[in-house]
Amino acid sequence: MRYGLQLKYAVSYFAIILASLLVINILLVVRCKELVFESKYSSMQNQGTLIASSLGALNTLRFDEVNKVMELLDEPDSTRIIVTDNSAAIVYDSVDNDGNNGKYLLYSEISLALQGKNVFDAKLRDGAISGKACVPVTSKGNIIGAVYLFDYDTEQVSMLQDLVRVLRIVSVVVLVASVILSVVLALLMSRRMRVILHGFRVLGEGDYDSRIEVGGKDALGQVGRELNDLAERLKKTEAMRQRFVSDASHELKTPLAAITLLADSIVQNDSMDKDTVREFVGDIGQEAERLRRITQRLLELTRLHNNAVKKETVNLKTVSTDSMKTLRTLAAKRGVTLSGQLDDNCLIAASKDDIHQVVFNIIENAIKYNVPDGSVKVLLFSKDGKVFLLVDDTGIGVPEDKLPHIFDRFYRVDEARNGEEGSSGLGLSIVKDTVEKHGGTVTAKRREPCGMRFEVCFPLYSGDGTAGGSE
Ligand code: ADP
Repeated sequence: MRYGLQLKYAVSYFAIILASLLVINILLVVRCKELVFESKYSSMQNQGTLIASSLGALNTLRFDEVNKVMELLDEPDSTRIIVTDNSAAIVYDSVDNDGNNGKYLLYSEISLALQGKNVFDAKLRDGAISGKACVPVTSKGNIIGAVYLFDYDTEQVSMLQDLVRVLRIVSVVVLVASVILSVVLALLMSRRMRVILHGFRVLGEGDYDSRIEVGGKDALGQVGRELNDLAERLKKTEAMRQRFVSDASHELKTPLAAITLLADSIVQNDSMDKDTVREFVGDIGQEAERLRRITQRLLELTRLHNNAVKKETVNLKTVSTDSMKTLRTLAAKRGVTLSGQLDDNCLIAASKDDIHQVVFNIIENAIKYNVPDGSVKVLLFSKDGKVFLLVDDTGIGVPEDKLPHIFDRFYRVDEARNGEEGSSGLGLSIVKDTVEKHGGTVTAKRREPCGMRFEVCFPLYSGDGTAGGSE
């Protein structure tokens, strides 16, 4: 079965070429035969008519006179010419004059000619073409005799046979060449097919590093290239999956371990007072809440990767104002001043919920990682077909060497400084994924002398602002 397809192709090529050769052979031979017959037929016709009209000048048909006319006409030796008078008695025979003169020639063609009819015929017999012509000789309106011509031509037939022989040799050569070519092509194709099949098998076994070399610009080459692209994509997805699983399990491990420890302490310590038990149970509750937040965010990340966004017209000023309103309590609790300078007409095409989460996360971080009496300033404006959202804070900032990692999943600059907040290290990675999914960019840089600036940029929505407007 391994060579089934290729064998089918090879047999099909061969069958097509064989059928074409057969048709060409048959058509050519038949047409050549027709041409030879046609030429023989018309040459007999011309010859017979010429002799008959030449003899028509005589009053009666007698050997001497007929012989003189024949000498003048000088007909080819290959044709036997017999002339009879009107009683079918031979008066001239180009082959055997002496023996046949005076004999009656009782051929049906002669009797038809003596009745005034022309008879022409050509047949292929015993490797030769025999042509016959019988024409009446008319003088002054009377039929005075008949001319009978008989031609036995082996030359044209042998030419025909030569042609058939050459055709056969050429056909056999073409057939053999086509068989060799079909087999070579089938083998080449099967080699490339095997390479592709091997590629699929290896990929199916989970080896995403191997690549195949098929080459060529045809369909098989295309399949090979697609397979390599697929392997590349699978490799990336697999790497992402592995990183995600290990990060997620690592992050879930810490609160789970804390819950186990706290629960064990309560169970194993019979003499624990009520207040301590309540405190431990409260801690368990906090860890459980942290677990909930992490799983919630993991779910959000999965949703981000799986769903296409349903876009609407979003006014970033409204989204920013809403987020700031909600976060004012947190800012007040931390002693952080929250202010904004928000331009109108900063519209973008996006999912409102997604954008709200982005803005909320960045402003929340600016408050969370701030210092008492610090400040957070939100700037929103549009420029050159783009909308910019800048969030500046005067907080603790991120060390230069840690800056490239803050958008990574589960990355936290310092466990100690944010452990209390139940932080997961997922917020900024969700922000980045969301922003990029909406065709935007997000960057973070340190501010002098302290704090951070987060800059989000989206393409400005250039529609009329009415379609699906969120405001
Ligand atoms: P988390 O849930 O820990 O806040 P994020 O992904 O939102 O996770 O942030 C990643 C890390 O980046 C945080 O742990 C924090 O240390 C740092 N970070 C984020 N925003 C700021 C900011 N405005 N100032 C200082 N550090 C920040």
